[in-house]
Amino acid sequence: MRNKQLIGAVFIIAVIALAVAGMWRTRSQRAGGYVATVVHPQGVMGTTCTLAAVVPRGETARAKDAVRRAEAELRAVEARMSTWLADSELSRLNAAGAGERVPLSPETLEVLRAAREAALRTDGAFDATCRPLVELWKRAGQRDRLPTEGQIDDARSASHWDLIEFTDRGAVKHVSATCVDLGGIAKGYAIDRAIIALQEAGMAGGLVDIGGDLACFGRSLEGQLWSVDVKDPFREGALAKLSLPGGAVCTSGAYARFTVIEGMRYSHIIDPRSGRPAAAAASVTVTAQTAITADVWATALSVLGIDGLRLLPANVEALIILGSAEDHRLVCTPGFVGLLQAPPPEGMTVWQAAPAE
Ligand code: ADP
Ligand code: MG
Repeated sequence: MRNKQLIGAVFIIAVIALAVAGMWRTRSQRAGGYVATVVHPQGVMGTTCTLAAVVPRGETARAKDAVRRAEAELRAVEARMSTWLADSELSRLNAAGAGERVPLSPETLEVLRAAREAALRTDGAFDATCRPLVELWKRAGQRDRLPTEGQIDDARSASHWDLIEFTDRGAVKHVSATCVDLGGIAKGYAIDRAIIALQEAGMAGGLVDIGGDLACFGRSLEGQLWSVDVKDPFREGALAKLSLPGGAVCTSGAYARFTVIEGMRYSHIIDPRSGRPAAAAASVTVTAQTAITADVWATALSVLGIDGLRLLPANVEALIILGSAEDHRLVCTPGFVGLLQAPPPEGMTVWQAAPAE
């Protein structure tokens, strides 16, 4: 695969093929003695999905098998952790009453623990227990009426990690209204699992993209680097292109998913501190070694804005886009500039950490 445009072209071909017959089609691209098998499984996490596996020419059968395994990983995570599926483990936890022991798989427990840890690392900006607030604002959108202070306070009082206890094999809630939403972390986890499946299948390189959040490893068809577009939050197309030797890129922002209430646009990301939709950034793109880390920080920085950059762990880079289509500002970490294929777009400023006192 030469770059994301190439994936895009393959995607269009695949969509046409899909319309004619079946669940998904495999396409192969060749370059320099290597072949990429690219598939677009349908119905993964309610969004687009691209899986690619690069192998030496003549090993396409192995690549096809590997992308099937990667797809199975994505579907397994979705089946366990989606709040859209009533019988997922997470939905069962959310529906449980106070004191009820809910059995959970090690995978779901792993993501729940990672989410709890993320709340600590992000100063509470990433808080997967904010589901009562997410639901409150979703209902407000459906009714086109802002929630009252009392409703926000009630939802906030159920949104705390202290209200859930983990056991070896499951979890117990102290309050039945407490609910968890892994929508800001499970996609990243699923991408990492799928990447591991491709690696364990011995692929020379691979890419997993769910709705624009992605991770890649090893060689691309072009060589050692992968080319990844950074979405422009205000118009179609890419704002910039990154060159990566591997790792993950995730983007969060109100540009793609938002609710309109009483004529105003509100983000689908909640600021757990205020109980209101986050308004700190138009879009945030984060690069990290793993997609779970990039996914968490993209959501957390959507809450914290530039102020949150000081909290970023080593090897995590970010681009924050502030403002509106008419009047916006781009701020990125120094390490992010190093990933850009071309000189920084006009108006991009590089954030510098304040020197330690
Ligand atoms: P996307 O789903 O577009 O990739 P994110 O990765 O930012 O966006 O995840 C947003 C989802 O995470 C929301 O739809 C909601 O389910 C959940 N969420 C909202 N606010 C928060 C928050 N402050 N911390 C953790 N999860 C959140
Ligand atoms: Mg995300």
